[in-house]
Amino acid sequence: MNSPHNLPGQPQLAYRGNELFCEDIRLSDLAKEHGTPLFVYSKGAMLSALAAYQRGFAGRTVQICYAMKANSSLGVIQVFAEAGCGFDVVSAGELQRVLAASGPAEKIIFSGVGKTRSEMRAALQAGIGCFNVESEAELEVLSDVALSMNVKAPVSIRVNPNVDPKTHPYISTGLKGSKFGVAHERVVQTYQRAAALPGIQVKGIDCHIGSQITEVAPYLDAVDRMLDLVEAIEAAGIPIHHIDFGGGLGINYNGDTPPSADDLWDKMLAKLDGRGFGQRHLMIEPGRSLVGNAGVCLSEVLYLKPGEQKNFCIIDAAMNDLPRPAMYQAYHQIVPVCTRTAAPATYDVVGPVCESGDWIGHDRALAVQQGDLLAVLSAGAYCMSMASNYNSRGRAPEILVDGAQTHVIRQRETVAEQMRYESLVTR
Ligand code: PLP
Repeated sequence: MNSPHNLPGQPQLAYRGNELFCEDIRLSDLAKEHGTPLFVYSKGAMLSALAAYQRGFAGRTVQICYAMKANSSLGVIQVFAEAGCGFDVVSAGELQRVLAASGPAEKIIFSGVGKTRSEMRAALQAGIGCFNVESEAELEVLSDVALSMNVKAPVSIRVNPNVDPKTHPYISTGLKGSKFGVAHERVVQTYQRAAALPGIQVKGIDCHIGSQITEVAPYLDAVDRMLDLVEAIEAAGIPIHHIDFGGGLGINYNGDTPPSADDLWDKMLAKLDGRGFGQRHLMIEPGRSLVGNAGVCLSEVLYLKPGEQKNFCIIDAAMNDLPRPAMYQAYHQIVPVCTRTAAPATYDVVGPVCESGDWIGHDRALAVQQGDLLAVLSAGAYCMSMASNYNSRGRAPEILVDGAQTHVIRQRETVAEQMRYESLVTR
């Protein structure tokens, strides 16, 4: 047999002969057994992505909080909980998911601009590690809620460092004009207010400048801005226990070359050491880089539709399964699950949903026939967690591959399940 041929940036995927495998599992076998569309995740790829972050900070005090909005399926949360991660949650729903997967409450941080009183109560009840607070108004409400429960809410303030992460505007969050965080110039005042509130205990400071960042420079700018603020806050008499740098690195979607996690730490820690902060308690909230390249979405070619201007390859996965192209014009590589030797043709790969925005890839060279299987790569992050029932399509199942073993971590959603909470008007 030919030696396996790995796909660049996809550590878990390799062609053996003309068949694509995830770890030791032939993907066409999974599609046969579970149908398509189907998400397949490699546990090994998730753990090796995590290991790169862990290697990078050996000898320091760092808590990794997996930003589970990237993929909030219970089986995925379980992988990271068992590997010792904390979690960054943004809703009571995400909080409940971590607890259901036996994630430790004290390693949960709660981010988001619009936490409700009931979400605050649930998080305080669970005993989470920290609220990342995004406004003075939120601080007041949180203090109030905590007092009504006779506790103090542990808090860090999310600051907006006004750093350009050089990514898509929809996933750029740390610039002036963004709805996120407290403006740089108001930060010390906000900390003074927090320290004076009876229901608040100041713990740390955090930021999150954006997602799919493929350069080190924006992180280093953010570190400098954050440390300036820590110095100013501590000079005002308010100790800062931890410094949280927000989300993690970007991934390889289309030949992108983000730095490795250990390289990022190397440069960030050099800066932190240079300014005397290297022994502080540090935190990071990676999402995409822990799961993105660990997942693929398998889909069947339903029809090939030649056209005057374009050829269409119509597949059974759609924007409800893979929303990133429609939302941010994002690129996912699309490869055959079983390669053919025929010459490729150029196709727009599209789904069955009734929207022109329902495309998965434009102008792709593919040697395919009706009934073939395609794999949409880098589908582990911000795909299933953003999936919807648009066009009354059930959400796809998810399989976790661990070596030669497979685990169904989500079953295909039926129409009956979609209609569960609806009712006809009774007369
Ligand atoms: N932390 C916060 C507050 C976020 O909003 C996000 C995502 O946007 C993340 C962490 C995760 O970012 P990433 O998936 O780029 O690592």
